[in-house]
Amino acid sequence: METQPDVAGAIKVPPSGFELLHQDIVGYLDEGTIAQIEKAYYYAEKAHSNQQRQSGEPYITHPLAVARILAGLQMDHQSLMAALLHDVIEDTGVEKKELSDIFDETVGELVDGVSKLNQIKFESRAEAQAENFQKMAFAMSRDIRVILVKLADRLHNMRTLGCLKPEKKRRIAKETLEIYAPIANRLGMYDIRLELEELGFHAVYPMRARRIAAAVKASKGHHKEIVDEIRQALAGALEAREIRVEVEGREKHLYSIYKKMRDNRKSFSEIMDVYGFRIVVQNEDQCYRVLGAVHGHYKPIPGRFKDYIAIPKSNGYQSLHTTLIGLHGAPIEIQIRTQKMEARANKGVTSHWFYKSTEAEAAEQSGRANQWIKSVMELQKFAGNPLEFIENVKMDLFPDEVYIFTPKGRIMELPKGATAIDFAYAVHTDIGNTCIACRINRRIAPLSQPLHNGQTVEIITKSESKPYIAWLNFVVTGKAKTNIRHTLKNQQRSQSRDLGRRLLEQSLSYLDADLESVSDEQMALVLEEFGFENQDELLEDLGLGNRMSYVVAYRLLLGDADADESEQENPAAQEPLAILGTEGMVLNYAKCCHPLPGDAIIGRLRKGRGVMVHIETCKNVADDIASAKESLMVRWDPEVTGYFSVSLMMESLNERGVLASLAAAISKSDADIEKIEFAEKGSSVGTIHLDVSVKDRIHLARLMKRLRSQKEVSRVVRLKNSV
Ligand code: MN
Repeated sequence: METQPDVAGAIKVPPSGFELLHQDIVGYLDEGTIAQIEKAYYYAEKAHSNQQRQSGEPYITHPLAVARILAGLQMDHQSLMAALLHDVIEDTGVEKKELSDIFDETVGELVDGVSKLNQIKFESRAEAQAENFQKMAFAMSRDIRVILVKLADRLHNMRTLGCLKPEKKRRIAKETLEIYAPIANRLGMYDIRLELEELGFHAVYPMRARRIAAAVKASKGHHKEIVDEIRQALAGALEAREIRVEVEGREKHLYSIYKKMRDNRKSFSEIMDVYGFRIVVQNEDQCYRVLGAVHGHYKPIPGRFKDYIAIPKSNGYQSLHTTLIGLHGAPIEIQIRTQKMEARANKGVTSHWFYKSTEAEAAEQSGRANQWIKSVMELQKFAGNPLEFIENVKMDLFPDEVYIFTPKGRIMELPKGATAIDFAYAVHTDIGNTCIACRINRRIAPLSQPLHNGQTVEIITKSESKPYIAWLNFVVTGKAKTNIRHTLKNQQRSQSRDLGRRLLEQSLSYLDADLESVSDEQMALVLEEFGFENQDELLEDLGLGNRMSYVVAYRLLLGDADADESEQENPAAQEPLAILGTEGMVLNYAKCCHPLPGDAIIGRLRKGRGVMVHIETCKNVADDIASAKESLMVRWDPEVTGYFSVSLMMESLNERGVLASLAAAISKSDADIEKIEFAEKGSSVGTIHLDVSVKDRIHLARLMKRLRSQKEVSRVVRLKNSV
């Protein structure tokens, strides 16, 4: 029998799980709340007692680590309890109700919220991802602590990623880089964001991470010398003004180097040859004094100074940023801030827990985060589909802001590239919807022009005006995009409803009936058969060209019993539909033949897009006998208004000044040039293609006559794409 050496007294028993956490929290929480946390710890330990992590450790090590991450941020006891319990609903089948009863309502809610987030997996399918993001935003909007627990959970999972299969590892790491690190950033939690990014980068791009790490290491020795030199110079300059503060060199992180190389197309050495320093001082006043001192020592690069103290970033970040030209022309980037700003920069939304801020400060801090979440929820309300939503949120998650002033001096924050339309929507949805022009720094400017920092923008509105579809080409904010799409959709809806009604009335009149004479019962039957909630939906569908009005007319009058679609005659052939020119988005004029009022025309229904009007002799209609059923007899209403585009071909002498005299002739005829181009250059006679807009055939005839009378012009033909 072997004898056990008696070393019991010499072995130091490692602290139990709860003791570790206790050490973290004893300094900032009181005994009563610590007791509650202890209860949560032992409850979780028992619930997970049969489970192990992938690494073989007891499962409780994970929730414990998550709680300790939050304890490091000095989070409140409910967050810590939720962290300890965050996997019990999901993994051990405990119910939310039980947690609410044993602990308290809030803890139950938090654990439930985190469990729901855990169901969410951001995978490749963009749509699923978007829906998931909506769910996440919703959970966050109810209690921001849910996402803080989730971020800590993710951080610990990233730290212990090693044990997982490569495929799963990659998926989690990718999701971390694309979703969770940006959220941490949006909440201003720099420390957590940084760690998520570095861990994620190594897991998703191991080769690139290793290569950059090696390059950083190789450049270190040389860099250290320069960094020390600059640090001493800066410290000297500050001491000369009797400011005694630490000047720290800022380390460059692998993922941020990688991102700069990828996104800004910079070389490794370009990035490494920028030296970063941070100066942390006592108070705001000192920030500006330090700024003066460093500007007095090295020359600042114009346009690179940013005052985020006066105008904090949207996540609450405050600091002064400036770039100086150092020794041998190397740029030196300097951040100057107070200790409080530093804590906020690193801990973000959690800094008010950490800093024991006053109520007002705490409200301001979490107010910013909540404001963002609120705006995300607002986007969701209006976004037509999940893809649209995620596209908008991505823009909000990766911001690069510009600050714009309203005429009254209010500051609006917008993403880089934003235009006056974005600004208008940021001020108020109604202002965006009725915006017609803008003044930038008091001068009339195009609505599509990207705004720059510090500009004052005034929006001119007109009450009956509407958003244009073309605005979508240059707006960048989610709010503007969703509102424009939303309004256009409504507009299209009412226009297609009108067109649908006219189409249906036309078909009914062929059968000696009208919409009035259709009984409610019969209407209800048909609506049910086609799956519509109400008559408006049916009319919309007709107007959008999704179904034929004569089919619906037969159904409404004859019932569906023995109606055979193939035997029904298209009554539209008998009585043409009058075109007014005001049908808007549901009626388009074909670009192949350019029909004009006065031309014989034919309509063609296009599913989901309404009616396309062609000239009767257009090749595209004639070739297409198979779809005759989708054809629609149309005629011009005598009252038709507006300008219509038409294509002309001219032969003309290739002389100096020809274009100018043609342009003069066209404008004298009260027509507008849309496009003009020489098809053949270099020869003495050239072909000119011209797109102009005119009112009708008579107007066009007048214009062509005038063009023919020009001495350089030998031939003018209208292009109609005819058979
Ligand atoms: Mn977990």
